[in-house]
Amino acid sequence: MAELTATVGPTSSGADVVHVDMDAFFASVEVLDRPELVGRPVIVGGTGSRGVVAACTYEARRYGVHSAMPMSLARRACPGAVVLPGRFDRYREISDRLHRILLDVTPIVERIALDEAFLDVSGAHRLFGDTTAIAHLLHDRVAGELHLPCSVGAGPVKFIAKLASEAAKPSATPAGITAGAGVVVVGPAEVNEFLEPHPVGALWGVGPVAARRLASIGVATVGDLAGVPERTIVRLLGARAGGQLARLARGLDDRPVVPDRPHKSVGKERTFPVDEVDPGRLHQHLVGLVDGVADHLRSAHLAGRTVVLKVRTADFTTSTRSHTSAQPVDTAAAILTVASGLLESVDASPGIRLLGVSVTGITPAGADPDGVSEVSQLAFALEGPGAGPGDEGGPGPGRPAVAGAWSQVAEAVDAVRSRYGRTSLRPAALVSDGDGGSRPDVQVRPDPNAGRPTVP
Ligand SMILES: [Mg+2]
Repeated sequence: MAELTATVGPTSSGADVVHVDMDAFFASVEVLDRPELVGRPVIVGGTGSRGVVAACTYEARRYGVHSAMPMSLARRACPGAVVLPGRFDRYREISDRLHRILLDVTPIVERIALDEAFLDVSGAHRLFGDTTAIAHLLHDRVAGELHLPCSVGAGPVKFIAKLASEAAKPSATPAGITAGAGVVVVGPAEVNEFLEPHPVGALWGVGPVAARRLASIGVATVGDLAGVPERTIVRLLGARAGGQLARLARGLDDRPVVPDRPHKSVGKERTFPVDEVDPGRLHQHLVGLVDGVADHLRSAHLAGRTVVLKVRTADFTTSTRSHTSAQPVDTAAAILTVASGLLESVDASPGIRLLGVSVTGITPAGADPDGVSEVSQLAFALEGPGAGPGDEGGPGPGRPAVAGAWSQVAEAVDAVRSRYGRTSLRPAALVSDGDGGSRPDVQVRPDPNAGRPTVP
């Protein structure tokens, strides 16, 4: 695979950044799975009173519906729309398949959303041809294997590639839908011509305020901006923003495509078939998620310092809470103590549709210079229910005996699972869940005195 990492292939044209972006992703997936929706306005998003549009088909865009629009407005604009709540597990599954297609072309893939990624294809030309060939290959593989529409843009730098994929998309007006080109490649020599007609708001970092200030000196398009001396832009917007904008207007963007690190975080999440309002049941779900995360961490010999709780409410608002501890953690008990503290601050009354737990700040387990991570991670297990996320959570005096118990529990669980499989042991809170009553589950509870799992 040495060819994949070569810096410049024989047919590099200098437009080596590729941006792949699925069209109306969530909505397109819904239409794929429910063919009776083909050709209909479909909106995916929060269906509650404060819901917003997450995605919509081009048929809905004809009515002025767009993502991030309040759902109430969207329904009024397009009363005939089919409004769906979204199925993130399904979108993630397809996103993973998309990712695998991209990784077939180059290992340098930076995923920036479920449906969007940048690729650096500078090392892929020998295998797959020039950038235009690669862009078409990606477009056609997504269509052929995922049965979903996407747009592919390419250019010498990231923001040109992103604008190119936008230019490749279909467009919708009240009069109708116009198919997009699907693939747009902007070579280095074409950058200025490509950029000129774009409104300045298309440049990264230009919000409404900056756009108004630029309009006040007669600058509406990138072409207008390119004709203004940099010092004028700096005087208008400040040194940093102004300098950056002047560079963007000339097509310059020095951010590299940063391939995803394999273990930025380890997480599990679950979308509930019915919005969950009961704190006890949420805690039960949490235990299951934490168990999965800890299992993954320990089997990969990893640990992490930050525990992140993700909550999506019935109105589609997603929020995260996190707590970073002094030492990496990798046991279910340690992670659960932190995650439970974070969950306590969540108001479940509006209904929770998704719960997720992840551990970030990943390091190899036991990599801590003092060699004490195995002990210190257990400090969390010592904190009672009163320990909140703001608590730094050091072990209290005389408590290490309990930590030792947790350590042995974790080791015992690992040993049993490696022999009998992942589901041979489950947390006690899940055993009464009703979904495993007939299985010979072993309940594992910490026993400070014995320091061993108890088998009822
Ligand atoms: Mg998209």
